[in-house]
Amino acid sequence: MLSCLLFKLFGLMSNSAFRLTGVFGGTFDPIHYGHLRVAEEIAEMIGLQEMRFIPARRPRLREAPVAPYCHREAMVHIAIECNPAFILDGRETRSSGVSYSVETLRELKRELGADAILCFIVGADAFTRFAQWHDWLEIFDLCHLIIVRRPGVELNMNRDNLPPELWEACAQRWVANPDDLRKARSGLIFPAPTILLDISATAIRVRLAAGKSVRYLLPDATLDYISAHHLYVDKV
Ligand code: ATP
Repeated sequence: MLSCLLFKLFGLMSNSAFRLTGVFGGTFDPIHYGHLRVAEEIAEMIGLQEMRFIPARRPRLREAPVAPYCHREAMVHIAIECNPAFILDGRETRSSGVSYSVETLRELKRELGADAILCFIVGADAFTRFAQWHDWLEIFDLCHLIIVRRPGVELNMNRDNLPPELWEACAQRWVANPDDLRKARSGLIFPAPTILLDISATAIRVRLAAGKSVRYLLPDATLDYISAHHLYVDKV
């Protein structure tokens, strides 16, 4: 009985020594409730100490964002400022070229120290192309991956759905219980059962360019910023 209690206490102490930090990268062009709700649910599910929103200056595997970096960063700031666990990480202000997730994760790991466990959020759509990312295998040494579902994208991560090299690299990494993410510093993959909100930044930009309402798809304060700066009126 006593040994069981001591074992539990030791388990809690050793778990609390780790700080779990969420890393949420994206173009956020603009940020919307699809991003915010997913971040909130993952933070609660995994017990994150903080969730860092990191706007990408220029993503490598997609078209250049429509709004300039400074506006996308400002919109993230406005959208998350009331949540003390959500942090705007503007490190890409300093970069001039293409954004590589692996570099951001290397930097964060160095800055946050050995006690930090990074939980990197990746949409199910982006995950199917993960093997095209720069130095993708190294990413497993730097963080855990949290895969989030999106409407219309199957989270059926079986052999037929993934490129063979990705399937092989991931086969032994899946965990179904978020508590397992505390048992290793990196390298696990957790498919997070988050809510499905069919909201995309593309659909918001299309509606804005057509003069249609986007109210309730993103925070009012972000919408006010978009209107004040005449964003997305002519470019989608
Ligand atoms: P766009 O329509 O311009 O491609 P987006 O809405 O997909 O933009 P991003 O900034 O590219 O937004 O997304 C950042 C991350 O958030 C990605 O991992 C993406 O899969 C995820 N994400 C975006 N929207 C949702 C949503 N509605 N539900 C869950 N995840 C989402």
